[in-house]
Amino acid sequence: MPRTIMLVLLTMLAGAALAVQDTPKIEVEKLAENVYLFTHNAHRSLFVVTDSAILATDPQSVEAAPHYVEEIRKISQAPIKYLVYSHHHADHVSGGAAFGDDVTIIAHQGVLDHIQGDILPPHITFAEETSLYLDDLEVRLIFPGPSETESNIIVHVPERGVAFMVDAVGVRVVPWRNMSGSDPHEWLAALEKMDAIDFEILAPGHGPTGKKENVGEYIGYMKALIAAVQDGIDKGQTLAQMQESVELSEYTDWTRYDEHFDMNIEGVHRELTK
Ligand SMILES: [Zn+2]
Repeated sequence: MPRTIMLVLLTMLAGAALAVQDTPKIEVEKLAENVYLFTHNAHRSLFVVTDSAILATDPQSVEAAPHYVEEIRKISQAPIKYLVYSHHHADHVSGGAAFGDDVTIIAHQGVLDHIQGDILPPHITFAEETSLYLDDLEVRLIFPGPSETESNIIVHVPERGVAFMVDAVGVRVVPWRNMSGSDPHEWLAALEKMDAIDFEILAPGHGPTGKKENVGEYIGYMKALIAAVQDGIDKGQTLAQMQESVELSEYTDWTRYDEHFDMNIEGVHRELTK
């Protein structure tokens, strides 16, 4: 290939790559009075705005966080008082520096073992539950026990009927890959605690927002998955045989079922045969 043509092609490729990087998907969805959901590409974070204060969850990344602050500032100039981590995974909680030095970072204590890279350490941690107040509006932070990780919490705004939880639940979507090395029975118990909370709107960290019924559906999937794998183990099947034969026909239209169902089986099989 002549050198000049190659240079032109390389320049075009670099331009295309930059164009993709330069246009992230950024959205803000109002879920209820005072309660919003910020989206940067595939990641979503809840934030709560009252007259005199703002609570933001999950700064996401060094790339996303400045956009997040910018979107918040289009709605309110009140101080961002709290930054709450949904759990410790770096793709959700890096980039907190964009929120400045005055913000108080709060997380479940399970986050402390995983502070690295661009994750700022929390100023305050809690073990089971705590409540924060923005003016008179209560925001509850609840640890329902281990689920996707040992630090995933529920952010609940009782007066607005909204609950936010990241990666441990979603709207008609199967769990990610082989379920992060977590215990499916513990995960199920955490979701049952979530299901006992009073709310209407489910806000996940990925994918569409939903309703409380979606938590019940997710519990149904987890129970069916655990039962199918346990049944295979009881019949003496190998993991490969189960991945070949097990199908949960009720859930085949869920997001990622085709790509991740075999890995979900692997994750549950690993835990049940430990
Ligand atoms: Zn996660």
